[in-house]
Amino acid sequence: MSRQRLTVLGASGSIGLSTLDVVARHPQRFEVVALTANTRIDVLAQQCRQHRPRYAVVGSAADAATLAGTLAQDGVATEVLAGAAALSQVAALTEVDTVMAAIVGAAGLAPTLAAVRAGKRVLLANKESLVMAGALFMAEVRASGATLLPIDSEHNAVFQSLPADYGGAFAAKGVRRILLTASGGPFLNAPLAQLGAVTPDQACAHPNWVMGRKISVDSATMMNKGLEVIEAHYLFNAPAACIEVVVHPQSIIHSLVEYADGSLLAQLSNPDMRTPIAHALAYPERIDAGVAALDLCAIGQLDFQRPDLQRFPCLSLAYRALAAGGSAPAALNAANEVAVAAFLAGRLAYLRIADSIAAVLDAMPATAANDLDAVRAIDREARMLAGSIMMRWQP
Ligand code: NAD
Ligand code: MG
Repeated sequence: MSRQRLTVLGASGSIGLSTLDVVARHPQRFEVVALTANTRIDVLAQQCRQHRPRYAVVGSAADAATLAGTLAQDGVATEVLAGAAALSQVAALTEVDTVMAAIVGAAGLAPTLAAVRAGKRVLLANKESLVMAGALFMAEVRASGATLLPIDSEHNAVFQSLPADYGGAFAAKGVRRILLTASGGPFLNAPLAQLGAVTPDQACAHPNWVMGRKISVDSATMMNKGLEVIEAHYLFNAPAACIEVVVHPQSIIHSLVEYADGSLLAQLSNPDMRTPIAHALAYPERIDAGVAALDLCAIGQLDFQRPDLQRFPCLSLAYRALAAGGSAPAALNAANEVAVAAFLAGRLAYLRIADSIAAVLDAMPATAANDLDAVRAIDREARMLAGSIMMRWQP
């Protein structure tokens, strides 16, 4: 069996680390061709020593010089590149079969699309690229014949619960609803009056998952689930009215598909991203992910409730952007990225995250966003607008 050759975009992040953990368990199956990171260059250096990729990509020329110097000292022959164009280059290399798209935020769009256009097997963690440019992105997947496999645990669970020949047919395959589960994050039961004063560290202390800081804040506000509703709409060709969110605090059922006959199919596992990552890496085969077996009797009980939209206004904002269509999801995503970065930097109060996004959606009526240039222009405009709106609310 020839080995599957991989590029990991965002290797130094939470998903990148979990991916390389699974890869290291199966050296006879996988070969790492390229790794990229914008931060934690020391982590990337260690990954290069272990996996010996042909290329490593960092953000700046200064980081590239540092990394190249360290690797040369250790006798590692990895070629170090820098900058955004190099990300797209290593995503589209002819000698690469599979690209893990695990950069966080809008920065992931261009290299993920480059992998899609090159017809790769694309393991999609970077949900923001689908939120920004969903219709365009899926059209490129169809045109190139790329294989798109979802890494987001909910979408991976839905993928596993749909028929193998689903092909985006929805009702024609008897699918009635997609139920996305949500843990509710760290503030599910916090008194509403306390939310005004929460700190970034409190928002990032997720009860079930250890993740990067941006997605952790998104989970606290439930914008993460909102982005996932939009992601599910595009990935599975599902009408917005047929995508529901169910709060399930234990994060054991990762999502469900409801069929016309009343059946619900679900995927369950311990909350560990190595399960969906291993699923997508080996698909359609199954490999060990290093994840402990799920002990249902030890868990004892699974709970469900409806999301409280007063507590989680970001979820409503995402449905609103999806209904508006066109440019609105890209504006939502950009406003959210700016607001979350400001919150993490101590420049915006937690409750103002939703206020800023709502103000950006109010100020930017949806327009068509039919090509990448239009999406980029919307992204820039929404970021500027969010920045100026937030100035009013500096703590
Ligand atoms: P993270 O912050 O831990 O890692 C992000 C990676 O992207 C890092 O390697 C970082 O260096 C790189 N990066 C950041 N900005 C960049 C830029 N401008 N240019 C190039 N590289 C850049 O994030 P994460 O938690 O691993 O999440 C990655 C993606 O996966 C996100 O889109 C997130 O929504 C999605 N996701 C994550 C999880 C999870 O459990 N962590 C689960 C589902 C989906
Ligand atoms: Mg998820």
